[in-house]
Amino acid sequence: MGIFRDLFSHSNKTPLETKKSQPDSVICFRRMSATALTKLLHEALSATAAAEKSLPAMQELLKEAENALKERSKRGLKPIELRLLEWIRFLSRPDNLAVHLMTLAELAKILSRKFKTPQEAIQVTIYPTRGIYNFTRKPDRITLELHESLICMSSDERTAFVNALSRRSNAPSSKLMRTIFYSTDAQKIRSNFTEVHSQHDSSSNARGATYDLEQLFHEVNENQFQNQLEKPALKWSSRKSKTRYGSYNFRTDTLIINKALDNPKVPRSVVLFILYHELLHKALGFKTKNGIVRSHTAEFRRAEKAFPHYETIQSYLSNFQLHNTD
Ligand SMILES: [Zn+2]
Repeated sequence: MGIFRDLFSHSNKTPLETKKSQPDSVICFRRMSATALTKLLHEALSATAAAEKSLPAMQELLKEAENALKERSKRGLKPIELRLLEWIRFLSRPDNLAVHLMTLAELAKILSRKFKTPQEAIQVTIYPTRGIYNFTRKPDRITLELHESLICMSSDERTAFVNALSRRSNAPSSKLMRTIFYSTDAQKIRSNFTEVHSQHDSSSNARGATYDLEQLFHEVNENQFQNQLEKPALKWSSRKSKTRYGSYNFRTDTLIINKALDNPKVPRSVVLFILYHELLHKALGFKTKNGIVRSHTAEFRRAEKAFPHYETIQSYLSNFQLHNTD
């Protein structure tokens, strides 16, 4: 229970305060709301805590938080709880936790130096946020929120970012962060987290007149990806496209298939293949070479050819005229 006693003494304002007298603190932990639990973890994993606590102690805390959430998962997790669970699981890997804590501590240090502000007045949080980053500077307080995937920043990038934050315009800092956010490294980290979709439920758009993309997704995920892929938002395009079969958007984690393929004349295997192609983009990410984004790499093409009846599907597609599907 040592960790929990530590936590109680650390956090004066958390909801735990009221339950301090209760002997079994694990029970309190289990009853906490996801928001309170998130807040508690932010405090427990902060740069200050990192300086005071050992990695194993933090890992134990993560384990208990994970167990508390697993307990709840029996009745189904709310999106915010699922997101918290994914975050905890990500940090449960020792390497990830170490990099996470190092990034927090580094940023607090650079910010403190750059803005001549004591470290106690600086709050840096890193977790799977909705946006890329959020920075506010008040006379007595500086707060910086970063998406978890930005722990891939190099030490030079952290310094450059803080320097950019000190400029009057926020254009340089957002430009730099966008570049890092869309790098392959950051994308790989983000694949640990389900994107939070602010848009309405996509299930209505996924069900076409002939094919249900949700159903096809589960089939491809099971047969081609060993059920390892997180489901992206799936949609049939609102109009028939004359130029492309499908697309995958990394930022929004949205996969769109051309409505022209939602037709009983189009074989099911062809739609499955197009879905597979777009999911490969999600699985493999994009690589940049000499500043050019490459998505159909040799690795990609090899994986694509492994799809059953690849040749037959290719010849079907070469005869399928998108511009004639009106
Ligand atoms: Zn492609």
